[in-house]
Amino acid sequence: MLTESPLVLVVEDEEALADSIRYNLEREGYTVEIAADGRTAVQRFRAAHHDLVLLDLMLPGMSGLDVCRTLRAESIVPIIIVTAKDSEADAVAGLEVGADDYVKKPFSMRELLSRVRANLRRTSLGVAADSDVLESASLRLDIDRHELQVRGLVVELRPKEFDLLEALLRRRGRLATRQILIEDVWGPGYFGDTKTLDVHIKRLRHKIEADPNAPDLIVTVRGLGYKLLDD
Ligand code: CA
Repeated sequence: MLTESPLVLVVEDEEALADSIRYNLEREGYTVEIAADGRTAVQRFRAAHHDLVLLDLMLPGMSGLDVCRTLRAESIVPIIIVTAKDSEADAVAGLEVGADDYVKKPFSMRELLSRVRANLRRTSLGVAADSDVLESASLRLDIDRHELQVRGLVVELRPKEFDLLEALLRRRGRLATRQILIEDVWGPGYFGDTKTLDVHIKRLRHKIEADPNAPDLIVTVRGLGYKLLDD
C-alpha cells in the first residue's frame, strides 16, 4: 500500500468547481494541483508527473482534447475527462485520443471519487479508499457484505459504528479530525452534540480493542480527533 498520497492534476477553468473538487479529493487523502487552462496543465504535468489527471474538455485556449493527446503521447497517466451534459460525442472523442474514462457534468462528488479510485487502482496507485475490503493488521472490513472481522472473528457493528470504522480505516495512520468524522458519518448538516462521536468511538473500542481502556487501535489525538493505528 502506498503511504504517500496520490497527486492529482485537476484541469478546470471554473473556479468554484475546481475548488469543490479539490476540497473533496483532499478530504480523501489526495494531493491536488489545479490548472485553469490547457497550456498550464501540460507544463504542470511535465514538472510533477501526477498520478492521475482530471481534465475538463471545455477550456480556454488549448482545448482539452489537445491536452489529452499531448499528455497521452508522453505518459500512461490515467486521464479522466469531464464533458458537458449531453455530449456523448465529446466523450467518445476524448476516449479516442487516449482518455481512460469520462464523467458528464453535472456529476456528484461521490461519483467523481469512485471514478478516481477506480482509475488509480488500474495503475495500482490507489489509496486505502480503493477497495471494497479495508484491511489492517487486525481488522478486516468488508464494505459490500457489511461485515467486520477482528483478528479473524466476526464482530457485529451497528450502522453508525460501521460507518465510523470505515471512515477511520480509510484514513489509517492519519489524523481524522472530529469534523471530518462527523461529516462522514452523520452528514455535513449535522449540528448535534459532538459527544455523539465520542460515544460511538467508545463503543467501537469496546468491540475492537484488546483492552478498551488502553486503546492502541483507535488513538485519541488530543484536541483534534482520532487516528487508527494498526500496522
Ligand atoms: Ca470548462
